[in-house]
Amino acid sequence: MSRTPKTCLITGGARGIGAAIAYRLGKSGQNVVIADVDEEGGKWRERQLSNEGIQVKFLRADVSSEPQVKELMSKTAEIFGGIDVLVNNAGIGSPGKPIEEQTLQEWQRVINVNLTGTWLCSKYAVPHMKDKGGVIVNIASTRAFQSEPNTEPYSASKGGIVALTHSLAVSLARYGIRVVSISPGWVDTSQWQIPPRPPSLTRLDNLQHPAGRVGRPEDIASLVSFLASEEASWITGVNFTIDGGMTVKMIYLDEGIIGQAISLLTEDQDLGRALEAMLRKLNSMGPDDRKKFKKILKDLAEQS
Ligand code: NAD
Repeated sequence: MSRTPKTCLITGGARGIGAAIAYRLGKSGQNVVIADVDEEGGKWRERQLSNEGIQVKFLRADVSSEPQVKELMSKTAEIFGGIDVLVNNAGIGSPGKPIEEQTLQEWQRVINVNLTGTWLCSKYAVPHMKDKGGVIVNIASTRAFQSEPNTEPYSASKGGIVALTHSLAVSLARYGIRVVSISPGWVDTSQWQIPPRPPSLTRLDNLQHPAGRVGRPEDIASLVSFLASEEASWITGVNFTIDGGMTVKMIYLDEGIIGQAISLLTEDQDLGRALEAMLRKLNSMGPDDRKKFKKILKDLAEQS
């Protein structure tokens, strides 16, 4: 960012990706406001960033509450004289139940925090941004575009954020406000939790990504920093997927893919190849041979 210091408000900035974004923007000389429901975590992060020489203020707010969001925006403007960058990062996951068991309340909670929270924060930040322009960065997810089972509230909320982004970008262009969204894939946040903990990722977790590793909060923070800068002044209304290549990798399940996964998991290529050959053979086996094969596997599993 060229004109410093700017004032950057990061929701959900106490921990995880939001904390790394706050750190990155703060380290580049910006004033930072961390907004979070977690009071203890927010204060912890405020102390940590402040010890790093960052001008930082923690403000407690639930992004799904209209009065709290309104107050958050006016307090931020009061403390630092305006708002230049809003990062709508606060988010929660789905309960992971099948649709028949999801309750309306669970659906509404996820939509309220992730999608309505993004809308509310944008709505109440605009009056503090519109005279001199600004940037809104919405954190969506690759789940906006693809899913695992039982994630309806989360995926729908993130898809909504991507659509809200282009709608806001067109509406707010007249004030010189750019609006973009970022869709991260799998990001391991262990080192940005409170207290930080070492990641517990397997080789398979990392190597299944075309880029060779699971994402880090710093990967997202550096993209936010670029998008919030003057260097990105011709970018608005679009979504950036940042996922180590996972969503462009086509996956059709076959014996080769399973064999490769086993090679990665066991760090033993020969074993992967042998099991791949075995799986191919298994497909042409009759029921009696399959039964024998299953018994051998069961005995092996019981031995170990
Ligand atoms: P996290 O749980 O580590 O941190 C989220 C923060 O948001 C916490 O500090 C929490 O207290 C705060 N928060 C939750 N509800 C809030 C509310 N109502 N008001 C204010 N603050 C609230 O999560 P994370 O993994 O760092 O995720 C950050 C964002 O990135 C989320 O929007 C998430 O959906 C998105 N995302 C994460 C991943 C990933 O793999 N970690 C992938 C794609 C997208």
